[in-house]
Amino acid sequence: MACALRRLFLRWVYSLRATEVKQVVVLGATGSIGLSTLDVLNRHTDRFNLHTITANRSVEKMLELVLAYEPQQAIMACPDAAEELASRLPVESPTRVLGGEQALIDAASASDVDVVMAAIVGFAGLRPTLAAAEHGKRLLLANKEALVSAGGVFMEAARAGGATLLPIDSEHNAMFQCIPANSRGRPYTAGVEKILLTASGGPFRGRSRSELAGVTPEQACAHPNWSMGRKISVDSATLLNKGLELAEACWLFDCTPDDIDVVVHPQSIIHSLVRYDDGSVLAQLGNPDMRTPIAYGLSWPERIDAGVSPLDLISLAQLDFEAPDLDAFPCLRLAQEAITQPGGMCVLNAANEIAVAAFLEGQLTFTGIDKVIAHTLEKVPSVEPENLEGVEALDGRARVCAQERVEQLERDTGGV
Ligand code: NDP
Repeated sequence: MACALRRLFLRWVYSLRATEVKQVVVLGATGSIGLSTLDVLNRHTDRFNLHTITANRSVEKMLELVLAYEPQQAIMACPDAAEELASRLPVESPTRVLGGEQALIDAASASDVDVVMAAIVGFAGLRPTLAAAEHGKRLLLANKEALVSAGGVFMEAARAGGATLLPIDSEHNAMFQCIPANSRGRPYTAGVEKILLTASGGPFRGRSRSELAGVTPEQACAHPNWSMGRKISVDSATLLNKGLELAEACWLFDCTPDDIDVVVHPQSIIHSLVRYDDGSVLAQLGNPDMRTPIAYGLSWPERIDAGVSPLDLISLAQLDFEAPDLDAFPCLRLAQEAITQPGGMCVLNAANEIAVAAFLEGQLTFTGIDKVIAHTLEKVPSVEPENLEGVEALDGRARVCAQERVEQLERDTGGV
């Protein structure tokens, strides 16, 4: 009750200071990034008001969040889940429950919304994320699959809409912090010689290809440094995530894959580096906690408390670096090749989403993931999509092809 009164009071204060308090939508609120975002927002209720939270089907988790944060709106992408959520909320709840993808798009583009955290996993987040870009929001981009798949279409929407695109991926957030503000988008005119994209190497770093064949989803999802959703955990284990990030960096910083080197850094303390023509190397360091890039995205160009413990270099003692093993982890090589093909990353992303889902369901081996991606890239004709419909059509073709390959591998080998 006291909590509800405090919220009502804060809402009243916000209405008086409407121009100062930012209205925030968290797409994918029940996920790993979503929950970290809510944690940071909750530390700064004087600056941010939770306008809308969204999820797909996780009614139980969403119910907890609605009761704890009382946003104006709670949206479930799945309409049945929305009905269930609405039926379980107390009648006095101030939160309006909506269902379906259009409700997500409407929330991300609503005129009274300032900030959108795009943290839906996978291609499913494209439409609402794009809507936020088109409507000129401060767009905190965690959903890398949306940018990587839609590429030029996405960047043009953000440019035309006047969106402020802030990278939440820790590596890109680090690059953003290391490249001077007046040259962002054109790093090579600022004397940047190379971007060094760091990779943890994932849970299987150091293993040979033959040692990877029998690894389980639980092992693949047990990342040594980061606690993340299952899909990105598998991407991190295959190094496919680094391929997505390579493409993401090319779009965000207007450069080519040749301008970026991938460096394995197992401790995940340095989140990326930028090397300049004069020999200077700028790096961003911090404990592996996504609340740091989230807080920076929310407050940029200022800085706010993220709740992250200070970095203790003495107890760390050592930082290691090595080259990625592209023979054991061919997904990164596949991405390096796909980036050079029109629409290649859209096809790669779709094939990967199908393959990872099959791996997590026990229908495909870990080493089957790159086989499905390679096959799909070979079979689906390369074409540069010109608009959203083109992106969705290419994604759809790649999914059908990848699914057929999964089923064929399952028949040939018994899958696992
Ligand atoms: P999670 O799997 O933890 O959460 C995904 C969120 O998306 C959940 O809220 C989920 O809802 C929602 N969702 C899933 N499918 C749909 C759908 N079809 N329609 C609408 N909503 C949907 O993922 P993460 O938080 O780990 O990752 C989110 C994004 O951020 C990914 O793109 C990832 O690559 C990126 N990222 C994540 C990092 C991390 O540390 N986790 C680091 C850097 C980037 P529900 O709970 O109902 O399923």
